[in-house]
Amino acid sequence: MNDCLFCKIIKGEIPSDKVYEDELVYVFKDINPTAPVHLLVIPKQHISKLDEVTAENSGVIAHIYEVIARLAKELDLKDGFRVVTNCGESAGQSVFHIHFHLLAGRPLLWPAG
Ligand code: 5GP
Ligand code: ZN
Repeated sequence: MNDCLFCKIIKGEIPSDKVYEDELVYVFKDINPTAPVHLLVIPKQHISKLDEVTAENSGVIAHIYEVIARLAKELDLKDGFRVVTNCGESAGQSVFHIHFHLLAGRPLLWPAG
């Protein structure tokens, strides 16, 4: 049994505001946006967190960055954007299905803190 929230979103068991989907990835709006553009990019394959990426499953991660580059053009994010992956609870990860936050539409301070 898979109790993963994002696996349920991919399967349509929990509604989401979908922005893009292909055979490998699913992109949807964050329910609690922290910027005017706040998307979550996730692999359809369940990988819990970034330190579980291996030579065997990293192809989908490369694909995710291709999708992000394409979305940035389509959404006209020419003022810049940020991609964030929190790994582990102390880094702020609250959903244990790897995800890439795509943030844009406001000044993004750095270091993020
Ligand atoms: P994390 O804190 O793990 O880096 O990011 C998890 C993100 O998932 C948060 O920004 C949170 O707002 C978002 N989130 C949590 N539950 C849901 C949900 O049911 N639907 C959507 N669209 N986003 C969610
Ligand atoms: Zn999952």
